[in-house]
Amino acid sequence: MRVVDFCQYKTPWRKRTRFLFGNIEEFDSLRLGNRFCDSTNGICTKSQRPHFHLTGSNRAGIPYTPVAQSYPAGLNHDLAYVLTTKFFVIPYQQQQQQQHS
Ligand SMILES: [Zn+2]
Repeated sequence: MRVVDFCQYKTPWRKRTRFLFGNIEEFDSLRLGNRFCDSTNGICTKSQRPHFHLTGSNRAGIPYTPVAQSYPAGLNHDLAYVLTTKFFVIPYQQQQQQQHS
């Protein structure tokens, strides 16, 4: 399982999210490994600003929680990378065979 905070992908809110992968090597999910905000005083470690609290609605009357449902673009990119790693990384054994042939 990997835990990421959306604020590490430049959103004003933290929105901690857990991903449980199946049939993925743990090593291949490392790209999501250091996306954790360990703020203790409410100040984001990425932006150095207070996290925005997802309560109430915006000026158009739309509640903030659905606004924050979309994954940030950077997270989508990292997820795509994790899910496709085994298709574009040459396994170590195969690398060794190529070097010796
Ligand atoms: Zn943060």
